[in-house]
Amino acid sequence: MIVSTEKRDIRKLTLDELKTFFVEKGEKAFRAQQVYEWLWKKSAKDFSQMTNLSVQTRDMLNEHFTINHIQVDNMQRSEDGTIKNAVKLYDGLVVESVLIPTKDRITACVSSQVGCSLDCKFCATARLKRMRNLSPDEIYDQVVAIKQQAELFFNRPLTNIVFMGMGEPLLNYANVVEAINKITSPEGLNMASKRITLSTVGIAKMIKKMADDGVKFNLAVSLHDAINETRSAIMPINETNPLEELAEALKYWYKKTKRKVTYEYVVWKGINDTIEHVQALVKFCKHIPCKVNLIEYNPIDDGEFQQASPEAIQLYQSTLEKNGIVARIRKSRGKDIDAACGQLANKA
Ligand code: SAH
Repeated sequence: MIVSTEKRDIRKLTLDELKTFFVEKGEKAFRAQQVYEWLWKKSAKDFSQMTNLSVQTRDMLNEHFTINHIQVDNMQRSEDGTIKNAVKLYDGLVVESVLIPTKDRITACVSSQVGCSLDCKFCATARLKRMRNLSPDEIYDQVVAIKQQAELFFNRPLTNIVFMGMGEPLLNYANVVEAINKITSPEGLNMASKRITLSTVGIAKMIKKMADDGVKFNLAVSLHDAINETRSAIMPINETNPLEELAEALKYWYKKTKRKVTYEYVVWKGINDTIEHVQALVKFCKHIPCKVNLIEYNPIDDGEFQQASPEAIQLYQSTLEKNGIVARIRKSRGKDIDAACGQLANKA
């Protein structure tokens, strides 16, 4: 018989499994509750921190388990206050997370996968390819690290979370939802779901699943174009998941949740900076109540994509507004440290 000597990651256990473990070891079940609180609410990185347990109990836990906590390996601060973290995972892989401070918010931008499989032509993360999904605790830990930085460097609480770091959250749906459940639960960080936004390329069947599951967080879709031919050329996912299917899924989402969707949209020179594309977007926006964030392009070295002229972006904004659709022009944050949208590629 081969007996594995490898220790288990204790945070893979549910509270009930932890209770069973303690009872099997002849201890009281309520110890599990104490340990669970240390692991999640207090984010303990080591069993020695669990000071309300006896030394014997801590040693016993140490014998059986590890705590695979993330490590912030490198922290860079931008001139505008933005902080980018290179986060090292237990197996040595690295993802990035970003703290974005504004006047009335501190937002954590977190990763959901190591790399990404989707190959969007304008995104630096796409060049890394997908290595693996992040586990719920690895997602949770990124939020904890940023919450601590918000308190330490800004003396302010973390207010918002966006899944706009590396990876496609809807291709790691179960783990993302489990992480959000922990983030919003009183046993975790007790944050409000309405402060959390999941950003996706718009995988239709997963949007429907989210609607069916009754999720309470917000949805943002990286649209970037509302004409199939152009969108497929810059976002290959659109070939198998065309705009018609996306629109149908969004209608389903709205019918079930009654919540507005945000479209993220970059205007590029020679790609989508003409009135034909503006009109296609206006038409797409009529499907369900929505708003549009016109986001600045963050160059990713080869120069194939270039930000459109201010006039082209203005044309988008004024045409959308004339049609009763809220459209905001969003400035990038943390550009000097490659922390802006689409620039996360472990360069530092
Ligand atoms: N996969 C998810 C989340 C990660 S990307 C998604 O696609 O939504 C987060 C946002 O950054 C998306 O809206 C994405 O389209 C945008 N983005 C990617 N590369 C960018 C770049 N170079 N400049 C500006 N935004 C970019």
